Formats: sequence, structure tokens, C-alpha cells
Amino acid sequence: MKTTDIFKKKRVFSFEVFPPKRTMPIEKIYDTLDELAVLKPDFISVTYGAGGSASAYTIEIASKIKHDLKTESVAHLTCLYLSEEEAREVLSRIEENGIENVLALRGDSSPDFEPKNRFCYASDLISFIKENNPNLNILGACYPEGHSESPNKIDDLRCLKKKTDAGASHLVSQLFFDNSLFFDFAEKARIAGIEAPIEAGIMPVVNKKQIERMVSLCGASLPEKFLKIMNRYEDNPEALRDAGIAYAVDQIVDLVTRGVDGIHLYTMNNAYIARRICEAVKTIIET
Ligand code: FAD
Repeated sequence: MKTTDIFKKKRVFSFEVFPPKRTMPIEKIYDTLDELAVLKPDFISVTYGAGGSASAYTIEIASKIKHDLKTESVAHLTCLYLSEEEAREVLSRIEENGIENVLALRGDSSPDFEPKNRFCYASDLISFIKENNPNLNILGACYPEGHSESPNKIDDLRCLKKKTDAGASHLVSQLFFDNSLFFDFAEKARIAGIEAPIEAGIMPVVNKKQIERMVSLCGASLPEKFLKIMNRYEDNPEALRDAGIAYAVDQIVDLVTRGVDGIHLYTMNNAYIARRICEAVKTIIET
């Protein structure tokens, strides 16, 4: 299937992985990638370190996914700390490596780096790619609960519209645990004239530390049902893992039943969890 056809499918099912730390060998992720590719996702996306710290690995891993594992790949790219020259250089490396899709992001600000002030928002990078690398398919991020820096959801939707107007053809959402928030957001996005498919970001929560980290990082609201499950099994790692998988499966079944455009699974590089979820939902997603 051609890349463009994958993104036109009725419903996309994709995975996200992150590169190993630069102090670790890149091969550390290879077994995980092998196991994920066997599950036949429509694509696997590879995150880009804050400030560009994992950039080399991102491209190398996205290239391996595409060429060795014959699975479509998406390279994330953050722009807050990129100069125009650096952006040109990274984008040509992406194209030279045969990668056809970029998830264009602003990235979070970090006290460790000096912003280059060329690309202040993701939409700036999207416009730049559209003009300079017109063959790349551009994806953008979206936030069902609103982005943490946004004064309100309406402003956030206006900014999202700028991203699709600039050339993002496909959106991937931040993780969430309350499907009603996602549907409300998706409906408002359509009313705002945003027509790009919106993939729902699902993160199976499989340990207690992960919950605390996630809430502090992305501020996702935690429904009572979710909290009850996590509290009930917090001292039993295996039960907590199974409950986290079951919760994610339940979310996916509901999303698919109600016509979601796609499911983007934040795998946390855990192929075992991804496999269990795939086994539970594959036929549902394909129906
Ligand atoms: P933007 O779309 O630029 O939005 C950032 C803020 O600015 C929002 O509040 C928005 O409302 C506002 N805004 C946007 N445009 C304008 C404008 N023109 N004028 C005024 N305000 C504006 N981070 C990483 O470091 N590496 C990754 O690989 C990575 N992958 C991600 C994948 C997904 C699917 C998601 C949802 C997030 C990911 N992130 C990643 C996190 C992301 O970088 C942060 O959430 C970041 O704070 C915002 O990035 P963005 O591209 O959404 O920013």
C-alpha cells in the first residue's frame, strides 16, 4: 500500500516509540521494533528528543522501520530550538532516508536550550515544510483537553486550524482517559472547519509511576472509574498491568464503535502490552 493510501484508510491504527537515550546503543530498541512490526500497524512514529537531543536516532529508527521492517514510519520533529538552516538539514536527511511522513511539533520549552526564534509554533514549521519539502506528508498534534499553555479550548482550536490550513493533513491526539472529552473536542474541531482525520492517542497505564509522571507532564484528567481501578490494584503490579490493558481496550472499543478516525497507541516501547491490546482489538478496528 502506498503511503498516501495508508493515511486515507477509513481507520488508522498506529504505534509510537521513543529512541533510546544517546548514552545507549541504538540497537537497544531493535527487538521491540521487530515485535511491534509483526503486529502490522499502519505506521510507527518515532519521537524526537526535546531540543533535538535524539534527532539522529529518530531518523535512523524511522528509516529502519520503513526499509527493514517494511512498515510505514513517521519521524517526529520539534522546532523551538531549530534554526532555519538546521531545519533544512534535518528535513533533507529525513527525505534522503526515504521517510515520507513528519509529525511537525513545536516541542516543550526547556531551560537547557536557547530558542532560535525562527519557529515559534508548530504551524511555522508546517508552513516551512510545505514550501521546502512538498513531498513530505505532514502530521500535527492536537489536544482533546486543550494544550496546557492555551488560555481556553476555543483559542487552542483556532491554533489547530492554523496547523491544518498550513498543511497538516492528519492529526494525532494527546493521550486521554475520558472518551467523552475526545468526542466533544472532535465535534468542535469539525465545527471549526478542521477536516483532517484525528487519531485518538491511547496510553495503556501499566504501572503507578507512569500515572504520576503522565499527569504531571500532560495534565490529562483522570475519570473516577480509572482512579478506582488504579487505586484498587496499585500494590499488585500484575493486576495493575492487566487492569491498565483492559481500560485501554475498553476505551478503544468505545472509540471505534463511535466512529473514530484512528487509534494511536503510545506503546512506551513495550511490545508485550502492544501485542495484548492488538490481540483484543484488531478485528474491531478492521471492521
Ligand atoms: P503548537 O501547535 O505550536 O502549540 C503550542 C501552544 O501554542 C498551544 O497552546 C497553542 O494553542 C499555541 N499556539 C499555536 N499556534 C499559535 C499561534 N500561531 N499563535 C499563538 N498561539 C499559538 N514533544 C517532544 O519533545 N518530542 C516529541 O516527539 C513529541 N511528540 C508528540 C506527539 C504527540 C501526538 C503529541 C500530542 C505531543 C508530542 N510532543 C512531543 C509534545 C509537544 O511537543 C508539546 O505538547 C508542546 O508543548 C506543543 O507542541 P505542538 O506542536 O502541539 O505546539
